[in-house]
Parts: sequence; structure tokens; C-alpha cells
Amino acid sequence: MLQTISETNKNFSNEISQVSDLKQLENLRIKYLSRKGIIATLFEDLKTVPKEDKPAVGKSLNELRNSVQTQFDTLKEKLEALSGNNKQAVDFTLPGRGKSVGSKHILIQTLDEIKTIFRGLGFSIAEGPELESDYNNFSALNFAPDHPARDMQDTFFINKDYLLRTHTSPVQIRVMQNQQPPVRAIMPGKVYRNEAISARSYCLFHQVEGLCVDKGVTFAELKGTLVSFARQFYGSGFKYRFRPSFFPFTEPSAEMDITCFLCKGKGCRMCKQTGWLEILGCGMVDPNVFKNVGYDSEKYTGYAFGMGIERIAILKYDIPDIRLYFENDLRFLKQF
Ligand SMILES: [Zn+2]
Repeated sequence: MLQTISETNKNFSNEISQVSDLKQLENLRIKYLSRKGIIATLFEDLKTVPKEDKPAVGKSLNELRNSVQTQFDTLKEKLEALSGNNKQAVDFTLPGRGKSVGSKHILIQTLDEIKTIFRGLGFSIAEGPELESDYNNFSALNFAPDHPARDMQDTFFINKDYLLRTHTSPVQIRVMQNQQPPVRAIMPGKVYRNEAISARSYCLFHQVEGLCVDKGVTFAELKGTLVSFARQFYGSGFKYRFRPSFFPFTEPSAEMDITCFLCKGKGCRMCKQTGWLEILGCGMVDPNVFKNVGYDSEKYTGYAFGMGIERIAILKYDIPDIRLYFENDLRFLKQF
């Protein structure tokens, strides 16, 4: 009898070592621990053992049963935890794992801010295609046929008649071709220039242009709108000035400067020691442009302005290299 018990113990150890799932374990339980299992049968057999041997055999049998039960319980717990059935295996007190969400690119953030300010000033938003006709991009905007901007150096031509727009101004043409005054809209979007890539220039950048056309629109209104924009975008503690400039599609034309916010006007590397930063170009729409879209330039006047988003953000956040915007380096992008 004692030998049978010892063999049973060995057999069980051997069989449980091969169990790999809960179903196999349950079969093993039925075989050894159920009411008609091997151990119960051994307890039945105890009745036939001579009286003087009973204490020793009984003790041995109890040890067998306890050992088998313990091994069974241990393995069951382990398998249940592995299969995920056991709710106790989940520790609800552990902190959750946060999902990392992306954020808006600094250029989009800047663009959104500019859009919000101009919406507040009564401007709607107009968009147009990046592949444009030579007519909309140049001719309609009063670029003479020999204007240097048409040169292959600056423009990505697709063919004789089509190109990647070099500014968002052709959207102004599209708006005016489709709508009679009053017009009050801004045109954000990507533009392309065939330039050597460096810290200061890139083949792609973003612009926002604005157009306002109505009866009796004046240069004073242009200044008022742009100063209001700049105060909201850059803060109020700066001086501004308008310098005469030239653009084919506006007359008169100007560039707007504000006090350098790095040196507060004292002169530094950012403002090239002038104390001023140029933030945008603007002017009164040239009557030739109105003629090209069928507006009566005797009846209507208007102003237009445009700014580069990359430049605006470079100035606002002191970004040293325009290429950083396009390299998708998270160390840069996460700072905003
Ligand atoms: Zn400065």
C-alpha cells in the first residue's frame, strides 16, 4: 500500500508537469481528486489494511492528498492568471496608461490664431488651388510679361500655362471673379518658390493674404485693420510704421514694420540692428487688377495685404532655421 501511494505521488507529479491549460488540469483533477478518483479509491482501500499498519498508511495517504491538492491549486491559479479569466489578477489600483495624442504643428497653430483675429475683424476665409494658371498667378495681378518673378529661377512651371502658385494672391482673383463687392476675405494657403533651400528660404511656405473691396475704402482703413491685427497677435506694447514699397498688384504699396520684440527697438541680430521687424506687405489694389476681374475702379476701391506664416512664427518664437518646420523632428515640434 505504501508503495502504491509513493507511485501515485510520482505519477501525479509527472502528469501535472505536462499540463499546459485549464482543461487538461480539470481532467487531472477528475482523475485524482474527484469522489471516484485515484485518491478516493486509495482511501477506500485503507479499510483492507491490517489494523496495526493503518496509522502509518493513513498518515501517508493524507500527505499524498494534501500534496496533490496544493500542487493542483498552485497551478490552477497560475493558469487562470495567464488566461485572464481570474478577475483578481487585474490590479485596479495601478495608474492608467495615458494615450499620447499629437498636437497641432506650430505653423497651423499660428495660422489658426491669425484666422481667428481676422474673423473677429469681419473677414471670411477663401481658399484656392495650389496648381494655378499663369494668368491668375501673374497676368491678372498686373505682373508685366517681363517681370522678374516669372523667371524660371523663382517659379515651378508645370507647362507654358500652369504653375505651382508663388503666392496666395491668385485666390483674390478667383474671389473677385466670382463675387461682386463688398469683399472682405483672407486667403491662407501653401505657396511654392523655386529657391535654394537654406536657413532662411525653403521651396514651400505658407501665406495669408487679405482683400477688402467696397465703395470708399481708404488707406487709413487698411492701416487701422492691420494695426488692430498686430496688436491682437503681437501684443500692444510696440510701435509700428508703414514704409513705401512696390508690388505689381497694389498702388500705393507699403510694408509694415513693428518694434523688434527681442531688443525692444535697441537693435539686435534678429532685426539686423535696425530695431524694426517687417511683418507684412500691403497696399491699395491697383485699378488694373480691378479691370482684369471686371470691377469698376471708378466705383470701388480696396486694399490687400499678405504675410508669410513661417516668417511670422520665426519672429514670434525666435526660431533659428526655417527648415525646422518641415523636418518633423519631435524635439522641435513638442516645444509648441
Ligand atoms: Zn532687435
